[in-house]
Amino acid sequence: MKALVKSRAACGLWLEDVPEPEPGINDVKVRVLCTGICGTDLHIYDWNDWARSTIRVPLVIGHEFSGEVVEVGSNVADLQPGDLVSGEGHVVCGRCRNCLAGRRHLCAHTQGVGVNRAGAFAEFVVLPMMNVWKHTHPIPHEIAAIFDPFGNAVHTALSFPVLGEDVLVTGAGPIGIMAAVVARFAGARHVVITDVNPHRLELARKAGIQKAVDTQTTPLKDVQKQLGMREGFDVGLEMSGSPAAFREMLENMCHGGKIAMLGIPPSEMAIDWHQVIFNMLTIKGIYGREMFETWYKMTVMLESGLDITPVITHRFSWRDYEKGFEVMRSGEAGKVILDWHDVS
Ligand code: NAD
Ligand code: ZN
Repeated sequence: MKALVKSRAACGLWLEDVPEPEPGINDVKVRVLCTGICGTDLHIYDWNDWARSTIRVPLVIGHEFSGEVVEVGSNVADLQPGDLVSGEGHVVCGRCRNCLAGRRHLCAHTQGVGVNRAGAFAEFVVLPMMNVWKHTHPIPHEIAAIFDPFGNAVHTALSFPVLGEDVLVTGAGPIGIMAAVVARFAGARHVVITDVNPHRLELARKAGIQKAVDTQTTPLKDVQKQLGMREGFDVGLEMSGSPAAFREMLENMCHGGKIAMLGIPPSEMAIDWHQVIFNMLTIKGIYGREMFETWYKMTVMLESGLDITPVITHRFSWRDYEKGFEVMRSGEAGKVILDWHDVS
């Protein structure tokens, strides 16, 4: 089958013919229809320090996908060929304390699809049945392909109650924008999103977040005044990985404010801990999605009218993957989709 392979320890990604993956008795084989390019894929392409220390070549990469079930293992009872599915990219051990307690997102031994095991930038991908999410309502294939990052956004945005609260989202990447849209949908009063890239701020406005602020020119204290806020943001969603953005957030939280942190800082970062202690802030780290409560919430929010379509800005054929990676790198894209419908 055709696949995008990290076949050698160098910058790049190569389109190759590789053997089709074979499902085991508990597995599901999926014909891939659409995939999303993630920042992680870009790191693997670029072969940065994280990728060098994590990826063992050769590896088919990619973890954001939708597809159609083509074959199921003999233990799989509730999925059939023809089902439209997305995949949870974290494969958990099932045996650690958290897994046994049903807290699978806290598994101590998570393996990543397209990171530690064969991924979805290919004609076919094989996943354990537990990792397959079946769509029972009609949904565009490209939306089903971004359930992984959409799930990051939903997991973060719903980590703390937002009904009636003032929410600050730092970082208007695709995940930050989706989180802002979800916070609105979940009943927040004001949702403010920040970035330092005008393209991203414009995309946030297109997605319906009017208060999209460039913090290089407009301090958040001024934004608070414009909105008639008096005591700071109640909930912060850190979606940039930028230490500067996180420090700005800490300065603009109310006493007792809650922060959910998804953005991954490039290295250790110093903050003014006095702000955390004396303002009694709660900071919660977020990784992946809750299995499978986040998936349930994503599905039902889309069914009840949530629209995340504006976050998809580019669509390419799998053949043109280089163009997809290029536009991702430019910073002028939201979510970039590769279409695999015509591969086989
Ligand atoms: P992205 O890189 O597309 O978006 C980050 C945005 O932050 C960019 O638009 C950038 O311009 C903006 N930014 C940079 N400096 C800023 C500043 N000072 N103030 C405000 N914004 C600033 O990333 P994404 O794909 O949307 O993902 C968001 C973050 O979440 C990334 O850090 C990513 O690594 C991380 N992530 C974490 C998980 C997890 O499970 N924890 C999963 C996926 C992604
Ligand atoms: Zn586990």
